[in-house]
Amino acid sequence: MTLHSSSAIIMRTWEFGESDLMVSFFTPKGGCLKGVAKGARKSRVRFANCLDLLCFTRLEYEQKKEDGLYFLHSGILIHAFPGLRADFSSLSLASYMIELTEILFPVGVAAERMFDLLQGALSALDEEKQIDSFRILFEAKAMTLGGYGIDLSRCCVCGRTYQGEGRALFRRGKGGIACLKCGQESERSPGLGPATVNALNAIQSTSWDTSQALGLSASMIREIKPVLKHHIEYRIGQRLKSAEFLSG
Ligand SMILES: [Zn+2]
Repeated sequence: MTLHSSSAIIMRTWEFGESDLMVSFFTPKGGCLKGVAKGARKSRVRFANCLDLLCFTRLEYEQKKEDGLYFLHSGILIHAFPGLRADFSSLSLASYMIELTEILFPVGVAAERMFDLLQGALSALDEEKQIDSFRILFEAKAMTLGGYGIDLSRCCVCGRTYQGEGRALFRRGKGGIACLKCGQESERSPGLGPATVNALNAIQSTSWDTSQALGLSASMIREIKPVLKHHIEYRIGQRLKSAEFLSG
């Protein structure tokens, strides 16, 4: 049996048996994994505060026989993100981020960049309450890492290259933008100004820190929000449960 040691973010926990805890945790190398922490509800020594929801933790674990489950041996808390927990809207957004991660990265898929994104987003939420802006950054980046980036390079109807000028509109069926010769802005095909298209392009292709430094304007946020809402609903095919607790 190989003993693994990895940083991990605690995604979900539920009671298991009399004193055990079942834990779903996200790791850079293994993606989303599930493990049993034996006796974790009785003895808090081996897992002192490190199996709480959303905690950033270092875990030691080994694979159980065949069922894909892991045995958690011990853990050390790295960061509990207390600022994020103190605020309902921050906590709701964090739960939504966890759910989107679980849908985009199923069990066992390696996801180092997604791990960095999730950790960066939780750290940012812990320090600042920029709910709308952080939600947009996370959604656009997570969808891109999951293989669903929005194609901003050309009109998805006529194929004309988008030069970074003029308004465009979002076509959810194509997962891309169209020029105004090929369509009309509407509620289902929300419009985007050139500054917004360029900002979204930057968000999709840069690190969390770089795109956080972009400083999205209120009008960019207003334009990107419905685009990502339509895009995620269309691609993922269901309304995320935790999205109901987020306004807008
Ligand atoms: Zn066109």
